[in-house]
Amino acid sequence: MKKVKVNQNVCIGCGACQAIIDSVFQLQDNGLAETKSENNTIDTMDEDVKQEVMDALEGCPTSAIYIEEKEEQ
Ligand code: SF4
Repeated sequence: MKKVKVNQNVCIGCGACQAIIDSVFQLQDNGLAETKSENNTIDTMDEDVKQEVMDALEGCPTSAIYIEEKEEQ
């Protein structure tokens, strides 16, 4: 299963990812972005959502957004 995640050590809280697709990315109280656990599974995303996630990933100024791949439990 692939999930989109944000590396909290690299994110600078610019908000660009949330501006692109706020159903997946959100700025937290600490000012850094994280993905919403209920919406961050790449495998189950609609194609248009997936495309916007990839746009956010490629557009992140610090390359904080990454894809995590895990074996099915
Ligand atoms: S675009 Fe990148 S740096 Fe900006 S808030 Fe999102 S993850 Fe953080």
